[in-house]
Amino acid sequence: MNVLHFSAECYPIAKVGGLADVVGSLPKYQNKLGTKSSVIMPFYDNDFARENSFESIFESSTKLGSTSIDFKILSLKNNTLGFDIFFVDIPELLFKDYVYSFDDTDRFLAFQIAALDWVIQFESKPSIIHCHDHHTGLVPFMMYYSHNYKVLQNVPTILTIHNAQYQGWFSHDKLGFIPEFDMKHVGLLDWDTSVNSLAAAIKCVWRVTTVSPSYMEELKRNANGLESLLSHESAKCSGILNGIDSDVWNPEVDDYLIKKFSQKTIVSGRKANKKWLCDHFGLNINKPLFAFIGRLVGEKGADLFPEIFDISLQKNDISILLLGSGHDDIEHGLESLKSKHEGNYNAYIGYDEKLSHIIYAGADFLLMPSRVEPCGLNQMYALKYGTIPIVNNIGGLKDTVVDVSEKGFGFVHQEASVEQVCHAIERATSFYQNQSEFKKIRTLIMQIDHSWGASAQAYIDLYNTLN
Ligand code: ADP
Repeated sequence: MNVLHFSAECYPIAKVGGLADVVGSLPKYQNKLGTKSSVIMPFYDNDFARENSFESIFESSTKLGSTSIDFKILSLKNNTLGFDIFFVDIPELLFKDYVYSFDDTDRFLAFQIAALDWVIQFESKPSIIHCHDHHTGLVPFMMYYSHNYKVLQNVPTILTIHNAQYQGWFSHDKLGFIPEFDMKHVGLLDWDTSVNSLAAAIKCVWRVTTVSPSYMEELKRNANGLESLLSHESAKCSGILNGIDSDVWNPEVDDYLIKKFSQKTIVSGRKANKKWLCDHFGLNINKPLFAFIGRLVGEKGADLFPEIFDISLQKNDISILLLGSGHDDIEHGLESLKSKHEGNYNAYIGYDEKLSHIIYAGADFLLMPSRVEPCGLNQMYALKYGTIPIVNNIGGLKDTVVDVSEKGFGFVHQEASVEQVCHAIERATSFYQNQSEFKKIRTLIMQIDHSWGASAQAYIDLYNTLN
C-alpha cells in the first residue's frame, strides 16, 4: 500500500509543534508495518535545506490564478529518515525562513496545486492520500472536483485534524486560485462567509481522524465554528491517539541529554539533567522543579502563567522554568517576573529543541493547563522521561493522564484557571515531600507505552477499509 502524506511540517525538517513530530514519525512506523509511506511538504529556507543535498525529480509550471509559477519536486539524498520525503520547491513563495506567516493562503495553495500536478503524472497512483490540517485541506476537493485532477477521483483521502482552531480561511476573491472546477460545487468550499480549507476537507474527504478520541468528542461541542459540520459528518470521523517516536524520544538514547538514563539509572540520570538546568538558569536543585514547554498562546493556558507563577512562587518553596514563545504580552509578563523571583524562576523565550529534551529529563513536574489540547505530545514525552505531568482534563490529556488520587500517576485539574492550577501545584509540592512515593511514580511512568505501534496500525486498518 502506497500512502502519501501531505503536510506543512515534518520533524526534523521543519517543526513548529506537534504536527511535525507526528508526520516525522507516523510514516516511519507505518513502513515498519509493511506500507510504503512517504511525505510531501514545502521546501523551506532552513538549516535542514542548507545541511542536506537534494535532487530534482520533476519540474513543471502551474498557475496560481493568473500568475504562472515554476516549481520543482525535490527528493532528499542520503535519506535515513525511514520514509521517502519529497519537497515542493517554489523559491518565491515557499523558500522562506518561516513555516507560517501572513501569506499562508497563497503559499499553501501553491504547495497543494504543485504537489497534485506532480501526483497526477504517477504511473501508479497512491493507494491513499493522507492530509494533515488545513494547510493541505483543499487537496480532497481539488482531487474530486478540479478538472485537472480527475484521474485522482478514486484515490481514498484521509484528513487528520491536529488542531481545529486554525482553519485556513480566505476570501472568495481568491477562488480563482483553485484549479478550474464546476461552480455548482462551490458550496463545498464555503463555511459562513469565507472559503474554509478545513471545512472543505471535512466535507470532501473519505475519512476524518483527530489525534485523540476525547478531542473528537470535544470538537462536536467546540470546534471554532465547525461544531455542526463535525456532528453532521460524525459517521466518517474517529479519534486515533498519537504515538511518540521512541527513536527520538527515549532517555536511553537521547543525544541531547546531559546524561542519558534508563529506569535503572533514573536517579543519577535525572539528577545530572536537573543540575545542568539549575546551574544554567540559576535555580536551586533541592527544590521541586516545575516546567512548561510550548507555544505561549491562550490555547495552552499560557496567559495564566504570570499570575500562577507569581502566586505559586510566593506560597511554595519551589522553582519554575519555562521554555516557549508566542504572544508578546505573555512573553513580557513572563520576563517581568524574573527579577522578583530571581533564583526560583527563569524563562527562556524562544524555541530550543535541545533544551526541551533536557527539561523533559530534568524537571520534576510538567505543567499543561491547556484549554485546547487535541492530543498533546509533551505529557507523553514527560512520562517517558520520568517527569510527572500536571494537566487540565481535556482532549488527549484526558486520554493519557490519571490523577494520583485515582491510583494514577499525575495531577489532573478540572479547568484552566489560576486557582485550579495553583491548587494542583500545591498538591504536587506536598507529593514531592514524600520522596519514596515520588520516586516510585517517576519510575512507573517511564514504563507506560505510548510508542507508535498500536496507533500506526490503527491508521493502516482505517486505510484498509477504504481500499
Ligand atoms: P502543539 O503542536 O499544539 O504546539 P504538542 O504538544 O502537540 O503541541 O507538540 C509540541 C511539540 O513542540 C513538542 O515536541 C514540544 O517539545 C515542542 N515545543 C513547543 N515549543 C517549544 C519550544 N519553545 N522549544 C522547543 N520545543 C518546543
